Amino acid sequence: MRTGYPAPHQMSFWRRYGNKGPWTCAYCNRRITKGFALGGRDTLVIHHVDHDEKNNDPENLVPMHRECHIKHHHIGKKRTKADRAKQSATLQAKRERMKKLEAMAKELGI
Ligand SMILES: [Zn+2]
Ligand SMILES: [Zn+2]
Repeated sequence: MRTGYPAPHQMSFWRRYGNKGPWTCAYCNRRITKGFALGGRDTLVIHHVDHDEKNNDPENLVPMHRECHIKHHHIGKKRTKADRAKQSATLQAKRERMKKLEAMAKELGI
Protein backbone atom coordinates (compact mmCIF):
# COMPACT_ATOMS: atom_id res chain seq x y z
CA MET A 1 0.00 0.00 0.00
CA ARG A 2 1.50 3.35 -0.90
CA THR A 3 1.66 6.02 1.78
CA GLY A 4 -1.11 8.60 1.86
CA TYR A 5 -3.65 6.15 0.52
CA PRO A 6 -6.73 6.08 2.77
CA ALA A 7 -6.89 3.01 5.01
CA PRO A 8 -10.17 1.03 5.14
CA HIS A 9 -11.15 2.57 8.47
CA GLN A 10 -10.51 6.04 7.05
CA MET A 11 -12.75 5.35 4.06
CA SER A 12 -15.46 4.03 6.35
CA PHE A 13 -15.12 7.00 8.65
CA TRP A 14 -15.31 9.50 5.79
CA ARG A 15 -18.40 7.85 4.45
CA ARG A 16 -20.12 8.40 7.79
CA TYR A 17 -18.68 11.73 8.95
CA GLY A 18 -17.20 13.33 5.84
CA ASN A 19 -13.51 14.04 5.32
CA LYS A 20 -13.55 17.81 5.77
CA GLY A 21 -14.80 18.26 9.33
CA PRO A 22 -15.33 19.82 11.72
CA TRP A 23 -16.00 16.66 13.69
CA THR A 24 -17.17 16.43 17.30
CA CYS A 25 -14.75 14.69 19.64
CA ALA A 26 -16.32 11.64 21.28
CA TYR A 27 -14.19 12.21 24.38
CA CYS A 28 -14.53 15.93 25.18
CA ASN A 29 -17.39 16.93 22.85
CA ARG A 30 -15.41 19.88 21.49
CA ARG A 31 -14.87 20.44 17.81
CA ILE A 32 -12.05 18.95 15.83
CA THR A 33 -11.19 21.17 12.93
CA LYS A 34 -7.82 19.78 11.83
CA GLY A 35 -7.53 16.66 9.72
CA PHE A 36 -4.90 13.96 10.10
CA ALA A 37 -2.34 15.48 7.82
CA LEU A 38 -1.67 18.62 9.85
CA GLY A 39 -0.16 17.02 12.97
CA GLY A 40 -0.34 18.27 16.54
CA ARG A 41 -2.37 17.35 19.61
CA ASP A 42 -5.73 18.64 18.42
CA THR A 43 -5.88 16.82 15.09
CA LEU A 44 -8.38 14.16 14.18
CA VAL A 45 -7.83 10.55 15.22
CA ILE A 46 -10.27 7.81 14.34
CA HIS A 47 -11.00 5.72 17.40
CA HIS A 48 -12.40 2.19 17.27
CA VAL A 49 -15.23 2.02 19.81
CA ASP A 50 -14.70 -1.68 20.58
CA HIS A 51 -10.88 -1.27 20.45
CA ASP A 52 -10.77 -3.76 17.59
CA GLU A 53 -8.67 -2.11 14.90
CA LYS A 54 -9.95 -4.56 12.34
CA ASN A 55 -13.60 -3.71 12.88
CA ASN A 56 -14.06 -0.94 10.33
CA ASP A 57 -17.82 -0.83 10.51
CA PRO A 58 -18.76 2.89 10.43
CA GLU A 59 -20.69 2.30 13.67
CA ASN A 60 -17.44 1.32 15.33
CA LEU A 61 -15.58 4.50 14.37
CA VAL A 62 -15.71 7.83 16.21
CA PRO A 63 -13.70 11.04 15.88
CA MET A 64 -11.39 12.12 18.73
CA HIS A 65 -8.65 14.67 19.22
CA ARG A 66 -5.22 13.08 19.17
CA GLU A 67 -4.71 14.17 22.77
CA CYS A 68 -8.12 12.93 23.94
CA HIS A 69 -7.50 9.65 22.19
CA ILE A 70 -4.34 9.12 24.22
CA LYS A 71 -6.21 9.98 27.43
CA HIS A 72 -9.01 7.61 26.52
CA HIS A 73 -6.64 4.70 25.97
CA HIS A 74 -4.69 5.54 29.11
CA ILE A 75 -7.85 5.38 31.20
CA GLY A 76 -8.72 2.21 29.29
CA LYS A 77 -5.80 0.50 31.00
CA LYS A 78 -7.57 0.74 34.33
CA ARG A 79 -10.59 -1.15 33.13
CA THR A 80 -12.71 -2.97 35.65
CA LYS A 81 -13.44 -6.67 35.66
CA ALA A 82 -16.93 -5.96 34.34
CA ASP A 83 -15.49 -4.07 31.37
CA ARG A 84 -13.17 -6.91 30.55
CA ALA A 85 -15.99 -9.42 30.80
CA LYS A 86 -18.07 -7.29 28.47
CA GLN A 87 -15.25 -7.08 25.97
CA SER A 88 -14.65 -10.80 25.92
CA ALA A 89 -18.39 -11.32 25.44
CA THR A 90 -18.21 -9.00 22.43
CA LEU A 91 -15.26 -10.93 21.07
CA GLN A 92 -17.07 -14.20 21.59
CA ALA A 93 -20.10 -12.88 19.71
CA LYS A 94 -17.84 -11.78 16.88
CA ARG A 95 -16.28 -15.23 16.64
CA GLU A 96 -19.73 -16.79 16.53
CA ARG A 97 -20.68 -14.45 13.70
CA MET A 98 -17.54 -15.39 11.78
CA LYS A 99 -18.28 -19.09 12.24
CA LYS A 100 -21.79 -18.58 10.91
CA LEU A 101 -20.44 -16.70 7.88
CA GLU A 102 -17.89 -19.41 7.20
CA ALA A 103 -20.57 -22.09 7.42
CA MET A 104 -22.75 -20.07 5.07
CA ALA A 105 -19.91 -19.68 2.59
CA LYS A 106 -19.27 -23.41 2.69
CA GLU A 107 -22.92 -24.12 2.05
CA LEU A 108 -22.91 -21.81 -0.92
CA GLY A 109 -19.68 -23.36 -2.16
CA ILE A 110 -17.80 -20.06 -2.20
ZN1 LIG B 1 -11.35 15.99 22.39
ZN1 LIG C 1 -8.55 4.30 19.97
